[in-house]
Amino acid sequence: MYWNKDIECMPREKLQALQLKRLADSFQRALSSPFYKEHFASGKIKSISSLDDLEKLPFTTKDDLRRAFPHGLVCVPIEETVRLHSSSGTTGNPTVVYHTKNDLDIWADLMARSLYMAGARKEDVFQNMMGYGLFTGGLGLHYGAEKLGMLTIPIGPGNTHRQIWFLQQFHTTIAHILPSYALRLAAALRDANLESGKDTRLKMVIVGAEPHTEGVRRKIEELLGVKAFNCYGLSEMCGPGVAFECEHQNGLHLWEDHFFMEIVDPETGKRLPDGEEGELVLTTLIREAMPVFRYRTRDITSIIPEPCLCGRTHRRISRIKGRDDDMLIINGVNVFPMQIEKVLMSISGVGTNYIIEVKKQNYMDKLTVKVEIHEELFTGTLEGLEKLELDIERQLKDEILFTPVVKLVEPNAIPVVQGKVKRVIDLRQTD
Ligand code: ADP
Ligand code: ZN
Repeated sequence: MYWNKDIECMPREKLQALQLKRLADSFQRALSSPFYKEHFASGKIKSISSLDDLEKLPFTTKDDLRRAFPHGLVCVPIEETVRLHSSSGTTGNPTVVYHTKNDLDIWADLMARSLYMAGARKEDVFQNMMGYGLFTGGLGLHYGAEKLGMLTIPIGPGNTHRQIWFLQQFHTTIAHILPSYALRLAAALRDANLESGKDTRLKMVIVGAEPHTEGVRRKIEELLGVKAFNCYGLSEMCGPGVAFECEHQNGLHLWEDHFFMEIVDPETGKRLPDGEEGELVLTTLIREAMPVFRYRTRDITSIIPEPCLCGRTHRRISRIKGRDDDMLIINGVNVFPMQIEKVLMSISGVGTNYIIEVKKQNYMDKLTVKVEIHEELFTGTLEGLEKLELDIERQLKDEILFTPVVKLVEPNAIPVVQGKVKRVIDLRQTD
């Protein structure tokens, strides 16, 4: 049941002692970099002697990483690094994250631990439908799956027909996939008159890299006949594998032997107590090449303080609600796209894709939700469709406190994108 029981079920006091030792060592190592010497100069401490000391250090933001381009945060001789990952950099310098051989080994082990926790075993066949390359989703899971001993298929994303062919030919049992793509794969199987579970041996999918609601998870599980496990991570910490669901699928265990977590108020930066929702701030504890201290992830979540039934002592975080910068302000009201998704997924007949459009009309913000519905509904009456639109508008109003415009569209009417899905088109700046 456990990949490494001693670590996964370590008593909390021992785990905290381990965190402190690792944090203190990491801090000392970081002082060898000119970036950190300067960065820490604004803090009030010269060494770390308790976990509370961390709060005295300044935050690190994505902008700090950009400013440190290309390798200002690297704390080992650059010849010791063996790989880099990088963000797209469409808005300025890209952020670059470096790894030593040892960093990659421990990341692979962390991934193997996470996959094993969800129920993956050596006998499984693992089809990795995430992008390989600079994006960490592909390579991150890849090495973990191999380390666990699974037959690993590095197919990458897209080309759904080929995905299905591979699923069938190699008896794939586990897929790693974007949640938005999992819904499209399910639709493609249905179009091909194939039943997942009968015509394929898929039994589990690992989903992550983009925010999605519990409703989308349930839909994936139902349509593909699988168990779907949520995997969270970000390049700045390593990539996927920072937090992962166990068999109880009730929050994600954040691996506290590798990362120290805090939840802060996104406005004030003040630390919030366990259970309260806020921005996740993470510190690497054993990264060699590029330790990162108090990184502002922008991801909104909360710590679940209660122990988990699985016996693991690493605390869980709740499903990511979205990024702080995803939040829309519509005529002064705050809305997270995930609130809209939650409502849409609870309505029967609503399909797998939707998009939110915001524009200005007569100086007011106007929010329109275009949502695909099942084909059969289009054969009904016009009044029936109008009634459904009104019904969805009413249910959305209960959730977001104002009435948006809902437009029902046919399946595949909304263009699909390669890679992470974009659910919001905000045209207000360009009006
Ligand atoms: P980028 O920031 O360019 O998208 P990353 O691949 O590092 O690059 O993306 C990490 C971000 O993806 C996280 O900070 C988070 O916003 C999102 N993310 C990753 N996994 C999940 C997940 N399971 N649920 C929700 N959001 C996720
Ligand atoms: Zn658990």
